[in-house]
Amino acid sequence: EIVTRFAPSPTGFLHIGGARTALFNWLYAKHHGGKMFLRIEDTDKSRSTQEAVDAILDGLSWLGINWDGEPLSQASRVERHQEAVEQMLASGMAYKCYASQEELTEMREKARAEGRPPRYDGRWRDRDASEAPEGVAPAIRLKAPQDGETVIDDQVQGTVTFANKDLDDLVLMRSDGTPTYMLAVVVDDHDMGVTHIIRGDDHLTNAARQALIFKALGWDVPVMAHIPLIHGPDGAKLSKRHGATGAETYRAMGYLPQAMRNYLARLGWSHGDEEIISLEDLIAWFDTDAIGKSASRFDFKKLENLNGHYMRATDDAQLLADWKVCLAHVDDGAAVLAWMAEGNNEAITLGALPGLKERAKTLVELTESASYLWRQRPLECDEKATKILDDNARQILKDLHGVLSAQPAWDAEPLEAAVKAYAEEKELKLGKVAQPLRAALTGRGVSPGIYDVLIALGREESLARIADQAA
Ligand code: GLU
Repeated sequence: EIVTRFAPSPTGFLHIGGARTALFNWLYAKHHGGKMFLRIEDTDKSRSTQEAVDAILDGLSWLGINWDGEPLSQASRVERHQEAVEQMLASGMAYKCYASQEELTEMREKARAEGRPPRYDGRWRDRDASEAPEGVAPAIRLKAPQDGETVIDDQVQGTVTFANKDLDDLVLMRSDGTPTYMLAVVVDDHDMGVTHIIRGDDHLTNAARQALIFKALGWDVPVMAHIPLIHGPDGAKLSKRHGATGAETYRAMGYLPQAMRNYLARLGWSHGDEEIISLEDLIAWFDTDAIGKSASRFDFKKLENLNGHYMRATDDAQLLADWKVCLAHVDDGAAVLAWMAEGNNEAITLGALPGLKERAKTLVELTESASYLWRQRPLECDEKATKILDDNARQILKDLHGVLSAQPAWDAEPLEAAVKAYAEEKELKLGKVAQPLRAALTGRGVSPGIYDVLIALGREESLARIADQAA
């Protein structure tokens, strides 16, 4: 069985790069009918917080990425990590190192002076236990091979070769008894039955060191796939400067989880020229062989367009549900949600949604263009609407008030016919009539179709808003 894992360090939020790593692991597991586990790498107590864990789980859930079993806390497994170190000591694959801080500093400085990468010189590798200084707690180091090569057959990077002489005898357990990160990852991956490690290529050199530990423990090295990092549109590593880097921020920015998922999947992986890929197809098509070797660029415009597509493709009831999730995460969202909960406002919103969603690329834009529904009379007009509402326009509104209030049925077709007939009679271009109407009904220069607006507001409210602005 294929087993993958996502192993975030809970030191902040779910980074957009982490979200993509999680998605790739999840899609890979789903594609192969396997499992994806979650491991929280919380051994650095000073930097790990419960809020960060919650934010990561929340971000994954929002994206619809569901993991198997319970999230595993790496910190809870210290005893097991220590046990693995004991096993390596017993088999001679690890040794106790009594080098002092001063000695280690000296080694580092010597290497720097000679222009070599800092490396532990193996001075305790072959010394006898009887030489151990008294009262000094040793660190435990891996007895790594000193020559030959360590080869990683990476699914994305290809064959990557490391000379063993460049990989020194890394520390497995510090002198205070705490296991190192490098050891913990290996022991956990093994115990969790991980068969495939998919993660950022910033971990590629760790892969070689981890492979040595796997071998020293007599365990199989999982298949590895190191994926290129995400860059901003300018080609530099994605950072705050490019825009939001937290996955959950995109929820507040009005993106749909399915659009985000589709976008992230295409960030570094492709299936021909397909841009819009359903979840079923993502699962059916995803594999590591189509992951690119070069860094992908985060294209905000593309994400926006994709989101617009998904908004139009999502049925209204579902879109309303997604919209409410977004509103729950934005500043003024609570007031809108409260309005929706009143009377039949939700039904009114749902009725207006087909017209609204044609124009919006994000749920935040949707909120803005729907805001005419809940804004109170007399409406505050934006600059464009104020400009439209000149004396001429106010006269037209006065006429329209008469025309529309005479309509027996408040339906889009007769209303449209009446407005058109009025324009013809006055020899006005339709826009000349529609613009003041829009400005009066919505307080905006741009809005959904005015007949949609008339229907959504209903007879009474529409006529009142028109009267507010009429001459
Ligand atoms: N905790 C590591 C990180 O957040 C991931 C380690 C791994 O995937 O092996 O970058």
